[in-house]
Amino acid sequence: MRDENCIFCKIANGEIPSRTLYEDDDFRVILDLNPVTKGHALILPKDHYKNLYELDDSIAVKALPLAKKMAAVMTDQLGCDGFNLIQNNNEVAGQTVFHFHIHLIPRYNDDKQQLVMKPCGMTAEDLDAVREQIVD
Ligand code: AMP
Ligand code: ZN
Repeated sequence: MRDENCIFCKIANGEIPSRTLYEDDDFRVILDLNPVTKGHALILPKDHYKNLYELDDSIAVKALPLAKKMAAVMTDQLGCDGFNLIQNNNEVAGQTVFHFHIHLIPRYNDDKQQLVMKPCGMTAEDLDAVREQIVD
């Protein structure tokens, strides 16, 4: 299942060259073209899934073990001090390429990068209401 108009389909399947770190039957891992830190990489499934909502379970179960493996190798090789996994879905969440991908972002004590999550200010009552909305 590939989308002819999708650049990540072309990269994942080798039609467009990339700086590949790893490849298997299901995934290609490439260096991000505009890295936020040294070693910033992307896990791309070879099949086209627009986002997490559409991701097939058979691929989903392989994605986190691969992220774990890449984090270990990259931490060893790059000597980073920590690691972020980021995965954006839909424009409002910062997705710009609509082919599911996971960002692998090595972090360094001196990287001066800010991947900010700031609290939106919810009361305990707000949290109770949110929980009910999700669980009910
Ligand atoms: P997102 O905002 O989560 O959709 O992330 C898209 C990422 O893809 C960004 O970090 C871009 O820098 C990266 N990107 C876009 N085009 C390419 C490309 N041709 N090769 C490598 N990375 C790319
Ligand atoms: Zn695609």
